[in-house]
Amino acid sequence: MAAAAEQHMKPHAIMVPVPLQGHLIPSVELALKLASNGFTITFINTQITHSKITLARSLTGESPDDEDIFSDQRNLHGFDIRYVTLSDGFPLSFDRSRNHNEFMEGLLLAFPVIVDEFIGNLLSSDVNPPVSYLIADSFFVWPSAVAKKHCLVHISFWTEPALAFTMYYHIHLLRRHGHFDSQDNRRDAINYIPGVEAIECRDLPSYLQDSEPWSVMHRYIFKSLEDAREADFVICNTVFELESSTITALQETKPFYAIGPIFRRGSAVAADFWPETPGCGPWLDARPENSVLYISFGSLVNVGKEVIQEIAHGLLQNSKLSFLWAIRRDITGCEETKVLPVGFEDEVRGRGLVVAWCSQIEVLSHSATGGFLTHCGWNSVLESVWCEVPMLCFPLLTDQFTNRKLVVDDWKVGMNMCGGKEVGREEVAENMKRLMNDAEGLRENMKERKKTLQNALSPDGSSEKNFEQFMHDIKLKIQPKSSIST
Ligand code: UDP
Repeated sequence: MAAAAEQHMKPHAIMVPVPLQGHLIPSVELALKLASNGFTITFINTQITHSKITLARSLTGESPDDEDIFSDQRNLHGFDIRYVTLSDGFPLSFDRSRNHNEFMEGLLLAFPVIVDEFIGNLLSSDVNPPVSYLIADSFFVWPSAVAKKHCLVHISFWTEPALAFTMYYHIHLLRRHGHFDSQDNRRDAINYIPGVEAIECRDLPSYLQDSEPWSVMHRYIFKSLEDAREADFVICNTVFELESSTITALQETKPFYAIGPIFRRGSAVAADFWPETPGCGPWLDARPENSVLYISFGSLVNVGKEVIQEIAHGLLQNSKLSFLWAIRRDITGCEETKVLPVGFEDEVRGRGLVVAWCSQIEVLSHSATGGFLTHCGWNSVLESVWCEVPMLCFPLLTDQFTNRKLVVDDWKVGMNMCGGKEVGREEVAENMKRLMNDAEGLRENMKERKKTLQNALSPDGSSEKNFEQFMHDIKLKIQPKSSIST
């Protein structure tokens, strides 16, 4: 009887990650962290996400439990994570990349109805323990309405830096000052966002830089951020000490918790959309310390063939540089199988390894890896700092421009790949050389930043304390004060 009462009292959250690789990975880790703190989690993946993971696992020769990515963790640690897959409104065969606008319309209109119905059914099924929380990725348009309808506490999970969040959060100020959504946007520095000393327009998330922000993607992003404003709590995959003034200012308007870095430190839960190309580990093992440049543009962005070729020529010009390049098969966004210059792989044989997908955290943590040419996705930035690998920055989309500012201008742990918008092989080659041969200053700064991350995760560190505080505060939201232990 006592055990039944205890089970009934457990906090239960529904978690919904955006169906993209860079959002799923931190969401999975967050689910594990909450479960290890006694939460019951109902974790929702879309069916297409689940089928990508299952296919990737079967291609690497694993024989996974087809139904549940968390089954090992449940068996190993007794975590109460209940895994659910839902349709995103499209059949599995629908090509979401090629029909991007239709897919975004589906996420705007169909997916909210599907999630709402699922939550309604779950709540009316007398689920035990009862659900109190909805933890949804901030890039959804529906969570606040759905949470209100079902009387759930709405927690918005922001998987980018606080600086990007605050720029969206203050979109009305950008509009008012003519930096966004005017006929002729101002181009001077922005110095009126609370907690942000000054930020150049080129460092805004790309959707806030666009002069014609009316696409379905813009509508989607802006509607999501409007929704996130309504959240009861925001949790952010960052560290207070890295963005203290931005976070302090945000906390004046919202309960905002910096609980990062949340990233994959082992491969406890299989969540990759692509199979890992085998052989990276042994290849790195055979190379001297800090000698390899790792190159990856993440899981999402498309890079034009011309740009790939300029980077390849930069590598050819650095004839002694070892490199490991992860190039997704869909990197250019079309069915292009040959994106590298003719004869490239023969020419670099012995010093270069080209793979489709790797375990990035393992590559970055290898002692042979000495530099990272990155698109500056936020997970990549955090992982690179954690592994103390200086970055050569090539932002392409969304928050990557803002992340570049943090990496290069604020923390000084990376440098730009190109001075301007053009990508030219001479400049690329020169900067690769500088990063690999002349980055002592960056490495020193990196040590400090790594310490910041490590300290934040120590038992008395800011992120651990914020996480404790967050769990305390959300419990307070649903229970009478007297029943909360401090
Ligand atoms: N990643 C990986 N192998 C690769 C490329 C990427 O494991 O070959 C992982 C990487 O470690 C990171 C995520 O995919 O956790 C990409 O997220 P990020 O925010 O860096 O970029 P996005 O893909 O969202 O643009």
